[in-house]
Amino acid sequence: MNNIVLVTGGAGYIGSHTCKRLEKEGYLPVVYDHLSTGHADFVKWGPLEQGDILDSDRLTRVLAKYNPAAVIHFAASAYVGESVSDPSSYYRNNVTGTLSLLQAMRSAEIGNIVFSSSCAVYGISSENTIKEEHPLVPVNPYGRTKSIVEHMLRDFAYAYGIRTVSLRYFNAAGADPDGEIGEHHDPETHLIPLLLDVAAGRVDHVDIYGNDYSSEDGTCVRDYVHVSDLADAHVMAMDKLMSGISSPCYNLGSGQGHTVLQLVRAVERVTGAKVTVRPTPRRVGDPPRLVCDPSRALAELGWKPKHSSLEEMLKHAWLWHRKRFLSP
Ligand code: UDP
Repeated sequence: MNNIVLVTGGAGYIGSHTCKRLEKEGYLPVVYDHLSTGHADFVKWGPLEQGDILDSDRLTRVLAKYNPAAVIHFAASAYVGESVSDPSSYYRNNVTGTLSLLQAMRSAEIGNIVFSSSCAVYGISSENTIKEEHPLVPVNPYGRTKSIVEHMLRDFAYAYGIRTVSLRYFNAAGADPDGEIGEHHDPETHLIPLLLDVAAGRVDHVDIYGNDYSSEDGTCVRDYVHVSDLADAHVMAMDKLMSGISSPCYNLGSGQGHTVLQLVRAVERVTGAKVTVRPTPRRVGDPPRLVCDPSRALAELGWKPKHSSLEEMLKHAWLWHRKRFLSP
């Protein structure tokens, strides 16, 4: 088996951190990305093949060119709010796009795929922490596309013998500790970079979506996990797949829940800046609480989040944010 890994969406936030980790572990990450949301300057650890996952012919040619040992599939549309207002593009990119990738993989006889899934597959939970066995009842189109793809992968595994693993991550946060890459979406809708934008003086406030949830301060609870810890988990899960062991899915999160207002205070502590917020109505499609039970990944992959304290994630994110957006 060779050391080449095709990384769809490898010019994006989690994809680029995973490429850095792959290279460190002796793999050659080949990035397949159409660069509509990813960044060419995030591709530093292997070649870039520019293309759309919907273009199955191009994918087949790229797979034939490199004959990768595995595919790690990040390429997807990933805004919960946008998925509610424009579900068509989510079903097209995430579901049809993955089908196109799987068809190309079958043509090229590539049998290992790590899929970037999400805790959005769970929907609303009354559990304090969520295990993988929790029912999948997503409450927004983004989560539904991820759930559909997970089913599709299991069907392909059964029928065609491919090996798959789905990684359901909670809220990716932070940035490369060396400051080489980080989070940069356009438009930005995610909480932490928006709070940092306010701290940096780039925008004047952040809307808080709902303050009447049943959490301690009324705002939504999420489990934030360092993007470099997620990158580690991808390589560990891929190594396991390539050793011939297929597992359906793993939750990846820190196991700690933080409210939106706790994030605001933590950003103020780390940046030393005052962050102005404005309460607004709930965002459609937001589950009130999503906190991970990561014990399966701990037990079966030997994965342990190393950088996922709130302070460390925000410190790395702030370092990156200033470098990217405030440097002359
Ligand atoms: N959030 C918010 N204001 C914003 C963006 C996000 O209050 O401008 C809240 C959102 O309702 C959720 C949490 O912050 O409870 C994390 O949202 P994000 O969009 O970062 O990730 P998601 O959990 O939707 O994947």
